[in-house]
Amino acid sequence: MSVDDNTPVLRGCIKLPLDRDELVEVTSKAKDYAIMHGAAMRSKTSFSPDSLNFAPFVLVPSSFPRKEFEKAIALQPIINRLMHNVAHDEEFITTTLAETIKVDEFTANLFNIYRKVLAHGFTQRISLGMLRSDLMLESRCPELSPLLDSSAGGGDDDDVDADVEEQEQRRANDAKAKTKAKGKSAKVGGRTSSAYCCWKQVEINTIASGFGHLGPASKTIQSFVLRELGHAEKLQRMPKNDALACLCIGMVRAWDIYAKPQAVILFIIEDVSYNICDQRFHEFYIRENYPHIKVLRRTLTEVHREGKLGQHKELLLGSTEVAVIYFRAGYEPAHYPSQGEWDARYLMETSLAIKCPSIQYHLAGTKKVQQALAQPSVLERFINDPEEMKAVGKIFTGLYSLDDNEAGNANYEMALRTPEKFVLKPQREGGGNNVYGVDIPDALKRMSRVERSAWILMDLIHPPLSQGYMVRPGGDMPPQIVDMVSELGIFGVVIGDAEHIFHNYQAGHMLRTKLSTANEGGVAAGLGALDSPYLIDSDDEDGYF
Ligand code: ADP
Ligand code: MG
Repeated sequence: MSVDDNTPVLRGCIKLPLDRDELVEVTSKAKDYAIMHGAAMRSKTSFSPDSLNFAPFVLVPSSFPRKEFEKAIALQPIINRLMHNVAHDEEFITTTLAETIKVDEFTANLFNIYRKVLAHGFTQRISLGMLRSDLMLESRCPELSPLLDSSAGGGDDDDVDADVEEQEQRRANDAKAKTKAKGKSAKVGGRTSSAYCCWKQVEINTIASGFGHLGPASKTIQSFVLRELGHAEKLQRMPKNDALACLCIGMVRAWDIYAKPQAVILFIIEDVSYNICDQRFHEFYIRENYPHIKVLRRTLTEVHREGKLGQHKELLLGSTEVAVIYFRAGYEPAHYPSQGEWDARYLMETSLAIKCPSIQYHLAGTKKVQQALAQPSVLERFINDPEEMKAVGKIFTGLYSLDDNEAGNANYEMALRTPEKFVLKPQREGGGNNVYGVDIPDALKRMSRVERSAWILMDLIHPPLSQGYMVRPGGDMPPQIVDMVSELGIFGVVIGDAEHIFHNYQAGHMLRTKLSTANEGGVAAGLGALDSPYLIDSDDEDGYF
């Protein structure tokens, strides 16, 4: 991570450090609280299907500017629609990925399925998108960014279903988003500098967008901790988070559309699910609130063994018909150890089941497509409203092609000259695949010109720091105060076909926080920690250090 002495620090939600005895006491309680409320994972080092460790978490919530949070929430339905339109633009997907699939076998395999499905016609024209747009505050952008003025949020915690409907209605009636300019400054070590001026999208996920449960669970742990520490009044600044319910309702809506009472929802899972709570809670939510809908879990290998198509191309596992397929696996090469798993993916794509994601949605979520979308003229193709286009255009940081052409080669030279400004990304998901800063030249030089087109280059984002205690299984007790940076993910649900969108709503959020020195912050990968936003306002007297 690019952090230096000038990196601004967001003011914490409570005064630190805590008294040592108080810290030990509250940390021990919070660890147990986390396990007992399902903020947990299976251990990778001593795996047992019979036990859980608590998931790493930040003890008290990290600050996040309210205006930026609300802007991200308000923008999500627009991003949902954008991704839906991209997924249904055959020409755009085909042209954008043309160079990449020549050298990236995994993307080529996915594309091959797409091509075959296109050739035969889509059996199921409706897709279920459960997206997550990941973003970071940018503390170094040279100008102050206009922000989207939002009226999103509010509502009653108890009635999530009604909330989703209300949100869809509000958006449908919504006037164009207004924009207004605003600035922000922070005092760092006596100097005044910008704490952030906008946020930038890190990536958009269209497959296996996790933390629908762990997002809200983080808020639960941190609310408990704040209450234990005598700061119950702070809870009002932690925004409500119905991610689990909103995502599950998305699956239920898709199931309703399929309209076969006996058909089930199928979760496609890895051979070993370490992040088990973040899958089972979805299943349990559906079973508890919609007990007439059955949920099955299968690996791709099992689908290959058990799956077949019925008379009307319905997906059958034995004699059980599948209405909706929710992929929590299938996004990386290791999930396809043999041709059998690819055959299973193809079988599902050609079936009548509604898929999350369908193959076109999966391809729309590739880094290469994200890079192509960030080019100014491209958004026009997918967004009609000029205000919306402007608002979405602003969330992209510089994204550059490395294709073997004049522009790509110029970008390659730029990366060699100033690598510290960039992140180099392949067409992979799940963390741990990117190359950062000074490591970029060596990585690029090892590739042929053609191989480079499987990668994209992205401006490094410089989020402000926050300081707090990160609690991990086997970590220091009591934990030390560390410098951290956060990444906010906003969930969105969109259901529709090429002509219509039937449902489109923002579906809650998650915050992941990592040590400021770490490049990546995947919680399942062991680098990040669960967190949730503590919203601070520009007119807070003590908003920032
Ligand atoms: P993946 O699909 O593997 O999750 P991401 O694009 O989300 O790939 O990158 C993984 C992580 O790397 C992010 O969660 C973030 O912490 C870090 N990262 C990615 N892009 C940037 C960027 N442009 N600036 C700073 N950090 C980044
Ligand atoms: Mg990511």
